Parts: sequence; structure tokens; C-alpha cells
Amino acid sequence: KVRVRFAPSPTGPLHMGGVRTALFNYLFAKKHGGDFILRIEDTDQTRFVPGAEEYIIESLNWCGLSPVEGPGIGGEFGPYRQSERKELYKKYAGQLVETGWAYYAFDTPNEIDALRKAAEVNKETFSYGIGTRDKLNNSLNLSEEEVQQKIAAGDAYVIRFKMPEDTDVTEEDLIRGSVTFNTTKSLDDKVLFKSDGMPTYHLANVVDDHLMEISHVIRGEEWLPSMPLHVLLYKALGWEETKPRFAHLPLILKPVGKGKLSKRDGDKLGFPVFPLEWTDPKTGDVSRGYREDGYFPEAFMNLLALLGWNPGTEQEFFTLDELTEIFSLERVVKSGSRFDPEKAKWFNKHYFQQKSVEELSGLFKVVLAEKGVEASDEKINAVVAEIKERCEFVSDIWEQGTYFFEAPTEYDAKTVKKRWKENTPGQLTEIANLFETIEDWKADSIKEAFSTFMNEKEWGFGVIMNPLRLSLVGGNVGPDLFVICELLGKEETVSRMKLAIE
Ligand code: GLU
Repeated sequence: KVRVRFAPSPTGPLHMGGVRTALFNYLFAKKHGGDFILRIEDTDQTRFVPGAEEYIIESLNWCGLSPVEGPGIGGEFGPYRQSERKELYKKYAGQLVETGWAYYAFDTPNEIDALRKAAEVNKETFSYGIGTRDKLNNSLNLSEEEVQQKIAAGDAYVIRFKMPEDTDVTEEDLIRGSVTFNTTKSLDDKVLFKSDGMPTYHLANVVDDHLMEISHVIRGEEWLPSMPLHVLLYKALGWEETKPRFAHLPLILKPVGKGKLSKRDGDKLGFPVFPLEWTDPKTGDVSRGYREDGYFPEAFMNLLALLGWNPGTEQEFFTLDELTEIFSLERVVKSGSRFDPEKAKWFNKHYFQQKSVEELSGLFKVVLAEKGVEASDEKINAVVAEIKERCEFVSDIWEQGTYFFEAPTEYDAKTVKKRWKENTPGQLTEIANLFETIEDWKADSIKEAFSTFMNEKEWGFGVIMNPLRLSLVGGNVGPDLFVICELLGKEETVSRMKLAIE
């Protein structure tokens, strides 16, 4: 059975790259009738950030990527928070020592630091492993009694993996194909179990993937270098038979320049990189979120799906259900994909236009309430229907249509200069008087009365329309003027005209 997990560490807000990892896991699970699981990898207590786990869960829910097992949800493979599985890992670390795959290391952090500094002087980097472990303070160089004594005396120790010498570790990555790492050149003896009684990421991750019966590990490219260690751990623990398949997803790249997309790019170019707004609990700094910026989750999922995956056709719009049907790891690309913030807006526009006036009005009402503006449902619906086409976000409805709800407080200077003539106030007063007499305040009737009046007066349309629009809207923008009049209502229309005349 396909079982995949999304395994974030609660070290801060979830980045959109992380959300994409979750999405691909989710799609893969759904496509194969499998399970999508959330596991919180919180074994590094120094990096724990309060609120991050809640943020991750809320983000997944907003995106529509709800796990079937996880913290707060339950499931038969729980607990799903690694800090709650602490006792479990110790046993496996001990087993690895017994079978000779790992060893106790008693070197203090200060000693290791000194070695690191000494190496730096020679322009080298120190690594604990093949070539150095024979000279250091670990159980490979101590007698059984010495080791037991040290442990009994309460000496702090870590458990390190004993990397086999000069071995090629080859593994099939479902996206990259066969990948080979040579142990001597690239791999050191990673710590598996720390002096604080917690496992490291590597041990906990492998143990949990095994115990939770994970079939496929789908994760970001930054974890590719860890794959050989994980493969060796499966071997060392005797779990080779049920080892999951691996798939490492390509990076999401900056909109411009080189490298992976970071929060700095977002700050600089003005787009969010997090699904939801995030307030840093230490500094109080607030980072933007797609949700608060007015993106629809459908748009967010659609744009993320196309970052690193392609359907093999020209189609660009996909619902989550459609994606579920056609998603495959084979169509995930190896190279990074560039994120385009303009395209993100374009996706939002698409989903915005798909929504009914009623739904958009519902969302727009929240904006109005925040502004303290009151309006009838009828008017809100009518305004939304009128200006929907020009908008990409719910907030655009306000930006494009403030004047439907508030009289202009200033008038566009350029238009005033060009269109507001000496006789304008007099003319507008006459029009206002005419408007007062109109019984059936509908765009068509207003237009008819207005036209008749204009013909009688032999005034040029342009001469009146622009100042009239200016008085109602404040500028030279907006839909049909008579529609605006209707939506404003007679009283408001006339009062705005009079205000402008003054
Ligand atoms: N805890 C790791 C992370 O934060 C999980 C990596 C993996 O999926 O193995 O990304």
C-alpha cells in the first residue's frame, strides 16, 4: 500500500517549497489510493519554535491537503510527533552499536571545536569519520570496560554511525534515476543519537519511516545528500526488504538571478513565500502569507503544482481533483523551476473570475466590515457583478470600487484641469435638478432623461460626462456612468454632485 508522509520540522513557518512537497506527497497518495501522513520532526530542541506546528497544520488545512494520520488526528502508527517517540529511538541506536554499525563517542563539543579550528588553520575541514575516528575518544578505541565505566560515570556521549570505508552506495531515485555516492569521499560519521537523549533527524526519520510503513519518501532536493546514509541505515537495521522508494524534488528558484527562492526575494520583490501570515514569536516581525494577501487556495495549489511538475500538455488550470488524477512522479523535472510572482497573480485572477458573484460578495463583505462600511446585500452584489471582470483579488473590488461606498475626498487634478470649466458648476446644478425629478432611478431611465435634456440644451456629451464622473468617482475611471448613478442611489448621486460644485 502506498503510504507517504510530509515530515516538517517545527522550526518556523512553512515555506511554499515545503507546501509543494506536501502537495506532491498528497497527490501521489491520492492517485494511488494511499495514505498521506503528517509527522512532526521535532527532535532538535534547540530549533523548536512555538506555534510552528500549529501553523503547519493550519496551512495544510487551508491548502486542502489534510492528512489522514498525524498529530491531533491520530492513527494506528502514532504518536506522530517525534518528541513523543523518544524512548523508541534509543533502542535502535543501541542495536546499531551492538551490531558494529555505530559507536559511542565521548569527545566533548569543545574538543571537537578545537579539532575543527586546527583543521581550519591548515585550510582543511575537519570531519569525524573515516581517517579521523581512530584517533578520537570513542568506543572504537576503548575497551569494553572503559566504555561501560564512562557511561556508568555519566560521561556525555553521542552515538555515531560508522560509515563503511570506500563503498559505493547506489540507489534509484524516482526522479533522478540511479544515484551513486562513495562513502570515503563524501560522508562522515553522522551523529545518530545525541547527548540530550534525543535521536538526530537521520535516525528518527529512518526508524519512523520504517515503523510507519512508509512506501515512498518524497522530499526536497536538499535531502538527497542524506539518502546514502539513510540507505545504509535501512541495511544496518535489517530493514532493506521494506526500504521505501525515494524521490527528491527539484528546487524552486528565485524569480530573478541564481539560487533557491527565499523570503528575502519575496520581501524585495513584494510577494509572499509563506502560505499564511506568520508572526515571529521572538521578534514580533510579521511575514506575509498567500491567504492574507488574498490568494485562493485553489490558485496557490495550481501554481505550486506547476513548479517542478508538468502535465505534458498545454493545460495550465487544474483543480486538486484533476491533479490527483493525472499526477505522476515521472513528470516531475530534475532541474529547478523558476517562480514567477506575476504568474501567481494570473492564476488567482482565473480562480477569481470562476467564482460566483454571491461567493465573491460574501468575501467582499469581510473587507467592507473591516473598513466599517455598511451596504445592502443588493448593492454589494450589484457592485461585484459590475466590476468583477477588472479584478484579480477580493481586495481589488474595494480598490476598484471604493467610490461605490464612499464619496470621493479628492478629485484627480489632471482631469479637473482639463475638464472642469467655468460654466461646469452651473451645468451640473441643472443636471442635479433634473436628476431630482427622475422617479424610476434605473441606469436606462437616467440615461434617457439625461440625453433628452442634453439634446434640448444642445450641450456636448463630453463636456458634461467628464465633470459628472469626476464628481461621483473622483477621477476618470469606472464602468458606465449611469450604472454608477443607479448603484449610488439618487440621493447620494445628487449630494456628490453638489459637493463637487462647491
Ligand atoms: N524534517 C525534515 C524536514 O524538515 C524531513 C525531511 C524528509 O522528508 O526526510 O524537511
